[in-house]
Amino acid sequence: MTSIVLSKRLKTIADYCPAGSRVADIGSDHALLASYLLANGLASFVIAGELNDGPYQAAREQVAKLAAADRASVRKGDGLAVLAPGETDVICIAGMGGQLIASILERGKAKLPGVKRLILQPNVGEEVVRRWLLDNGWQLTAEDVLEEDGVIYEILVAQPGDPLAPYREKARSTEELLRLGPWLWEKKSPILRQKWEREREKRKSILDQLAKSRRPETRKRYEQVAKELDWIEEVIQCLQTDKP
Ligand code: SAM
Repeated sequence: MTSIVLSKRLKTIADYCPAGSRVADIGSDHALLASYLLANGLASFVIAGELNDGPYQAAREQVAKLAAADRASVRKGDGLAVLAPGETDVICIAGMGGQLIASILERGKAKLPGVKRLILQPNVGEEVVRRWLLDNGWQLTAEDVLEEDGVIYEILVAQPGDPLAPYREKARSTEELLRLGPWLWEKKSPILRQKWEREREKRKSILDQLAKSRRPETRKRYEQVAKELDWIEEVIQCLQTDKP
C-alpha cells in the first residue's frame, strides 16, 4: 500500500467526504484525492474522472498502485458524463475556475439525483458556483477558506435542500453573500480578510491603470471599479472589527 500525502487544500476536501461514501472526483488529475480516500479506508468506492489523456493515464497508474484498486474506477470523459445515475454519493470538483465547475454541474444535471453532497473548490469565480447552487436546489452547508503556498482557496460544500437557507435573515443581502460566502462571512476568519485585502489591491491597481487612460469609455469602468473598491473597503472594515 502506498502512502499518499495530500496538500492542505486536498486534505480539507477529503475531510468533508463522509466516511464510507462512494466518491467521484471529477477533473482528478493524478487521482491523488481518490487514492487517498481509498488507501485510508475513507471511501467505499472511488471514481476518478478526467477529460485529458495525460492526467487520465497518470490517474490510472496511480490507482493501479493501490491495494484496493478493485474499488476504484478511472474514467476518461467530460465532467459528469463519466458517471452513471445513482452510482455516487459525493462529487468533488476542485482546482478549476468557478465558471467551468458550474458548467460541469449544469451539463451533468441528469447525474445529480441521488448525490448527497457536492464538494467544490473553485480557484476563481466562487460567486458563480454559489449562484449555480442557489438556482439549482443545492443548499450550502459549509464553507472553508485556507491559504497554501501563498494562494487562498475557498471550499464550498452543498447538499440537496433549501438553497436560500444560508442567505435568509442575514445582515447582508443575498447578492453580497454570494460574493462573500454566507458561512465564510459568519466565521470571519483572518484568511478571509486577507482574501479581501488582496481583492482591494487588485482593484486599486486597475484604478491606477484606468486613471492613465484618456479614452472616454474607461470613465464608466473607472466608476464601476471605484464603487467596488468602496464596497471592499467596507467589507474589510467589518472583518477587522466584527467579532469572529
Ligand atoms: N482536482 C485536482 C486538484 O484539485 O488538484 C486537479 C486540478 S487540475 C488544475 C484540473 C483538472 O481538471 C485537469 O487535470 C484537467 O484535465 C481536468 N479537467 C478540465 N476540464 C474537465 C472536464 N470538463 N471534465 C473532466 N476533467 C476536466
